[in-house]
Amino acid sequence: MAWELESRLAEIRRAGLQRRRRTLSSAQGPLIRVEGREYLSFCSNDYLGLAAHPAMAEAACRAALEAGVGAGASHLVLGHHDLHELLEQRFAALTGFPRALLFSAGYMANLGVITALLGRHDAIFADRLNHASLNDAALLSRADLQRFRHTDVAHLEELLSRSSAPRKLVVTDGVFSMDGDMAPLADMLAVCERHDALLFVDDAHGFGVLGEGGKGILQHFGLQSDRLVYLATLGKAVGSFGALVAGSETVIEYLLQTAHTYIYTTALPPLLAQASLTALDLLADDGLRQHLQQLIGQLRAGMQGLPWQLLPSATPIQPLLVGESLAAVELADALREHGIMVPAIRPPTVPQGSARLRISLSAAHTADDVDRLLQVLAHLAREL
Ligand SMILES: *Cc1c(COP(=O)(O)O)cnc(C)c1O
Repeated sequence: MAWELESRLAEIRRAGLQRRRRTLSSAQGPLIRVEGREYLSFCSNDYLGLAAHPAMAEAACRAALEAGVGAGASHLVLGHHDLHELLEQRFAALTGFPRALLFSAGYMANLGVITALLGRHDAIFADRLNHASLNDAALLSRADLQRFRHTDVAHLEELLSRSSAPRKLVVTDGVFSMDGDMAPLADMLAVCERHDALLFVDDAHGFGVLGEGGKGILQHFGLQSDRLVYLATLGKAVGSFGALVAGSETVIEYLLQTAHTYIYTTALPPLLAQASLTALDLLADDGLRQHLQQLIGQLRAGMQGLPWQLLPSATPIQPLLVGESLAAVELADALREHGIMVPAIRPPTVPQGSARLRISLSAAHTADDVDRLLQVLAHLAREL
């Protein structure tokens, strides 16, 4: 067949890039059951341990009994429920924006925001390591896509100063999903002001984790501006599902009127909005983040003296750099044989030659869990 799918698949296998799903038969958490065996897991984005929190499950069940399971319609055709409305209002108040809009997933929110705000004659300036959904959104918008070197504000400014596009949008992950480092948002915002650009921050990995009360990366850096559009996803630290976009009254109203991924899709089940509302109560507890910071410190201190390097990161995403894809997979396999799950992340998700184990910590981990990971890594280092 002309499409050569088989030979392309063979190429993927040869390069050590084949992915395989493992099936979870427990709830998400530090201790999971996968294909008949228990593991200690450092795989999830459930940074606060809320995904299987009993209060969340209870809230979702209660909401299901009252509001049903399916929303039954899109938001603009009477699928918009009190619980959706409440969640938008709580999120806007929490993050200090005039208004917010609930999307069904972060991926869809990114597609919706960027294609609504920009068109053929406009320009997008994107960090090279941005999440795939932001790049896909840029392509779909047909705006001119310019990528600046990772967190390089001088390069961003150079690209902006050469652009004569009528609308300029700078787009960045807040916390980079495979590196764990943060975008230099204060400097980026200043550059946006000088060049009359808007700044869109995808805080999928920062909301709940950073800032007082878990209010996210803008709170962490003390930033607020009407040039900002802010996205938090609800499937990571919030432990639920969906995504919220916050911004000025005008931007949010414009998205509501024009964003295709908002308009042409079924509203999120209201029970998930209720679970997210419950999560907002739970994640206000700064004790969760203090514990998480202790675990991060413990892991980083314990890694010194081992042959692998952790990339610089102050967030629960702690990438252990390996280099070659096959070596990363071998190390992940060896950990798994010792009952520990850590995902190997390979190109094209990360640049060539920078395959890594993405260790992600959760407030639901204990100090003993981190100790066990460190002990097994030390053991494997001696074996290799
Ligand atoms: C996970 C993620 C998304 C997608 O969010 P979903 O709600 O899972 O669709 C978007 N952006 C970034 C940076 C992410 O890490």
